[in-house]
Amino acid sequence: MGKVYLIGAGPGDPELLTLKAARLIQNADVVLHDALVADAVLDLARPQGLLVDVGKRAGDRRISQQDINRMMVQFATTVATVVRLKGGDPLVFGRAAEEMEALRMAGVEFEVVPGITAAVASAAQAKISLTDRDKAGAVVFLTAQHKNGKKLTDLAQFASERTTLAIYMPNGRYAEIADEAITVGLSRWTPCLIVLNASRPNQETYWTNLDSLRSASRVKSPSLLIIGEVARAHRDSTSTVAPQATQTLTTQSTDLHSPLGGTQ
Ligand code: SAH
Repeated sequence: MGKVYLIGAGPGDPELLTLKAARLIQNADVVLHDALVADAVLDLARPQGLLVDVGKRAGDRRISQQDINRMMVQFATTVATVVRLKGGDPLVFGRAAEEMEALRMAGVEFEVVPGITAAVASAAQAKISLTDRDKAGAVVFLTAQHKNGKKLTDLAQFASERTTLAIYMPNGRYAEIADEAITVGLSRWTPCLIVLNASRPNQETYWTNLDSLRSASRVKSPSLLIIGEVARAHRDSTSTVAPQATQTLTTQSTDLHSPLGGTQ
């Protein structure tokens, strides 16, 4: 019987893999990977190994979760090392609980190798501290994703002036998120950052505030939304204002600048 390794592939840059992850990927007989895993990471897999894209983005589900569970168990009965490779950290918004349960049920030995999660990678790229002690006493990882028509997270539970919100899979729900955050008491001038493709060559970072986030045009995926005072530190001459649905990328609106400057 082989062993399954649930491995975090990190945000994209292969140099952000742990040494253990890199070694296991290089030696794996089979790698089952999500769509989010960067090609630069997959390039580490040995040519004789089998690489299976079990990627499934929301709305584009090619292989069901049950099929993935079954594949892991089946491969573990035929080869020595099965790597289940997930973007970021495997235990953060990665359905790992279901996969670990399937492995437990089947009596397959497994190990988890952590990776750098998108919130941490995005903060590093934007050069902001998620827990700058003058501004935030907590950071919350949450998702704007819905399951069976129901929201997975209730912002009211977490939103506060001294909490940084790191929102995974914002999927263009900016208006919904901003309205809810303002309704539960956050200032509409609270700074926000959107980091697209953190640590990848095509990385982009946009700053805005809750008020303007409502009408911001959707940034592609994978992107992460950070809301909180800590994001204010990102604003500098190189940052780009989040595009508004009616604006072009380079337009910088004055009402965005002034509140972010701290005058209101
Ligand atoms: N397990 C992953 C998260 C999977 S959910 C992790 O720990 O990072 C997928 C979401 O993660 C994406 O919709 C996006 O919000 C975020 N994400 C993953 N990689 C990212 C990257 N390189 N840059 C920005 N956001 C990313």
